[in-house]
Amino acid sequence: MNPFDRELTQRLDEWRDQSLLRELRAVQSPQGARIQVNGRELLNFSSNDYLGLASHPALKEAAVRAIERFGAGAGASRLISGSLSPHHELDETLAAFKGTEAALSFSSGYTTAVGTICALLGRDDWVLIDRLVHASIVDAARLSSARLRVFRHNDLDDLQRILRQVNRRRANSISGSPRPRVLIVTESVFSMTGTLAPLKELVQIKDAAGAWLMVDEAHATGLYGPNRRGLADELGVGDRIEIQMGTLGKAVGAAGGFICGSRPLIHLLVNRARSFVFSTAPPPAAAAAATAGICVIQSDEGARRVTRLWNSVSSLEAQLRAHAPSLARHASRSAILPVVVGLESKALDAASVLQERGLFVPAIRYPSVRRGAAQLRVSITAMHSDADISALASALASSVNPL
Ligand SMILES: *Cc1c(COP(=O)(O)O)cnc(C)c1O
Repeated sequence: MNPFDRELTQRLDEWRDQSLLRELRAVQSPQGARIQVNGRELLNFSSNDYLGLASHPALKEAAVRAIERFGAGAGASRLISGSLSPHHELDETLAAFKGTEAALSFSSGYTTAVGTICALLGRDDWVLIDRLVHASIVDAARLSSARLRVFRHNDLDDLQRILRQVNRRRANSISGSPRPRVLIVTESVFSMTGTLAPLKELVQIKDAAGAWLMVDEAHATGLYGPNRRGLADELGVGDRIEIQMGTLGKAVGAAGGFICGSRPLIHLLVNRARSFVFSTAPPPAAAAAATAGICVIQSDEGARRVTRLWNSVSSLEAQLRAHAPSLARHASRSAILPVVVGLESKALDAASVLQERGLFVPAIRYPSVRRGAAQLRVSITAMHSDADISALASALASSVNPL
């Protein structure tokens, strides 16, 4: 083996020793309540396709039609000749869906976070993030070169303490230079814990402190609020959040990410978000499928699917309270149920026991969560039947010991 491969193999071996090594598994079916993994059918509790739209006929048909009319690839970036009709239609659909002046779609949620935060902030600015935000936001905050502060998860006192410090430093900044900006970034529904951010209070706090607020609704878009726009919609604060982010690859059933907000925000991103400017436009099929996904979400069928999902979540919680109270969550209403088991090896063992029983529940380990806080992450979707939920509850109750 050459020195290069020897070094890499050593690093991989270290991760294996710590139960942190990961492998790809080939899935031979579309997303659904059941998936085919390595030739075996498993009940799937791992998908973010919360409403079952990824293989919905309306989305597939929209994608096929877009390919027939516009081809497989966009051929250039949006700012050159790649800004095709399906992209414009998607941006307009997103703005109408979220009730904002404007919207801009990106090729993924990850590139949305990186492009947006780096476009808004520079080295004299401040970025304040919740401890549990997604890696895309952490990476964006670091890459922006703004000064980074982390507040404890959903802890408003800690956030206010940091804001007071930052505002004292802001008041002392050299006169004549522009006042440093402060951006608070959080998720509305946290991807690994399923906890909900106190958005009403956050809006008041950022207004009082003269800061901006960016909220990533990756796990809430399509699921919460009277218009199913997300948690900000449910809490009635959408129009007070400067930067509303989301992904198109989860409940929307397609692929991509987006920002909704004011016209100046979107115009700035078109000019300055480097992941948007310097990247080929997403395939027209992805944009068309996302538009179709948002249309389904806004329809009566979307409402029925959301009701179905929340009924399954309630039913799971009730069964766990009855048969495995240590697994029942006490906090918030979300489609994500984390079962923290602690040791990485314990999470892998629990996942393989569940797999033997025919259930696919992923073991989530560092760096997705803290070391020693490995968990099983159960996600419920609108496609699960009552029998699927009961099978999950009894498998969890009999084979998983939480920390
Ligand atoms: C999945 C996720 C992203 C990234 O979105 P992709 O479209 O998958 O790149 C960003 N933020 C959060 C909170 C996520 O869960």
